[in-house]
Amino acid sequence: MSASWRTVPMPPRVAELPRNSAGRPVPGNIAWHGVDDDGSILLTRSPELGGHITCRCTPGLGTPVFGEQCPVRQREFMTRRRCGLCTKYIATTEQLAFIGETNAAYYLEPPLHLSCAAYALQVCPRLHAAGDRIEVCLTHTYTLAEDRITGMTPEGDLVRAKFRFGDPIARDLAVLEFYLAFPDAPERRSGPAWLLAQQPRHDGEHPTPER
Ligand SMILES: [Zn+2]
Ligand SMILES: [Zn+2]
Repeated sequence: MSASWRTVPMPPRVAELPRNSAGRPVPGNIAWHGVDDDGSILLTRSPELGGHITCRCTPGLGTPVFGEQCPVRQREFMTRRRCGLCTKYIATTEQLAFIGETNAAYYLEPPLHLSCAAYALQVCPRLHAAGDRIEVCLTHTYTLAEDRITGMTPEGDLVRAKFRFGDPIARDLAVLEFYLAFPDAPERRSGPAWLLAQQPRHDGEHPTPER
């Protein structure tokens, strides 16, 4: 079962997204590298965030880098409850989904509409390849924390630490890159089983019972 973005029907909101050169819709949280972009990390400072990483990319301009999140949109989607795929607001009355490894305590990718999560599970090669190791975490609300860079190892690797959301001390200590979402009262399902339960049933088929 190798579903592809070419054959899986796109939710209307996903069909409106900018595409890559092959015509594939690019998730809203993905970073784009412009023609004259040298890939360097841009640091700035503001009273609200303290030191933080910023980005000037524009969706639809340049080349999307699948697997790399734009820190600016990641933070905006996390704080404003906007979908990491289609970019639209997720109503507070709606359940939302995070996709990640089994029993993940927190998520680095923004929340998703349930229809967008089902689409992503079918067409994203990385999620597809991971099969049962991918979990869908359903929740109505989540709590944010800050993922900040505190320094660098002698080998040149970034050292990171988690801070409480809005922690005034953290602003002076470390550089904010992303927000982390900790789901409140999560319901967890294996990716393939949840996906199966989302799809319309046909006569004669017995859907796999959910755990
Ligand atoms: Zn960006
Ligand atoms: Zn969505």
